[in-house]
Amino acid sequence: SDIKLIPGKEWPTAGSIQFNHVYLSYRPGLPYVLKDLDIFVKPSEKIGICGRTGAGKSTIMTALYRLSEISSGTVSIDGINISEIGLFELRSKLSIIPQDPVLFKGTIRTNLDPFNELSDDKLNDALRRSGLIENSNVEGGTEGTNGDEIEKGNTNKFNLDSLVEDEGDNFSLGERQLIALARALVRDSKILIMDEATSSVDYETDFKIQETIKNEFSHCTILCIAHRLKTILNYDRILVLDKGEVSEFDTPI
Ligand code: ATP
Ligand code: MG
Repeated sequence: SDIKLIPGKEWPTAGSIQFNHVYLSYRPGLPYVLKDLDIFVKPSEKIGICGRTGAGKSTIMTALYRLSEISSGTVSIDGINISEIGLFELRSKLSIIPQDPVLFKGTIRTNLDPFNELSDDKLNDALRRSGLIENSNVEGGTEGTNGDEIEKGNTNKFNLDSLVEDEGDNFSLGERQLIALARALVRDSKILIMDEATSSVDYETDFKIQETIKNEFSHCTILCIAHRLKTILNYDRILVLDKGEVSEFDTPI
């Protein structure tokens, strides 16, 4: 129906996610790529998702974000069936770092804060926590237009005024992933989904990101799709997918 449920402004307060016998096929006639996915993710739980290429890992994100509609079953967040709410309502409440994050033409600031609602302090803090800038590199580089400020302004490649070309082409994939992580920090959502978010960064950076996630997102529910098992070894539970089916869902070792 066209009448959409409008969940409370605070939804989701806990961040539980329920997949209830979910089947998904990308088009009628194509085989199911999720088959009877039936899992409950507790509030604030950190779930690592792994499985071979084509197993359906990214499709879990597709289903949550409703980029493709599921064929049967239900997906609920804090007990609300996500197919009954508007796409904007839904998507504004999830933070997603996809395999290949897209940035928008503008600046790092407009990418982090498109509606210009937040202070530089808060935005710089997110850049710092995501590891894009070192602690000492945050001085200057504010709105100032006078020469003086520009001169002593931020020489860091990742300051708030750094230009972002169309789709973020002027940044490497790993850098775009870090900017997407900073955006997630700014958005402060209850649910964070990362798809191989650290696949293109070096081991040291991956470790830093995982530390950030542990410290900064402790109150969030996290689904993290990862190829490096090491990345998700300290997660609460690991979901192993095999050809669209759950083959394991348990604590690591
Ligand atoms: P990878 O590790 O390579 O990222 P994955 O586990 O994320 O793999 P998915 O992207 O979820 O795999 O794909 C699961 C299956 O769905 C694959 O067989 C894939 O070919 C198919 N698939 C994915 N996206 C689409 C699409 N947009 N249209 C049709 N089929 C798709
Ligand atoms: Mg994938």
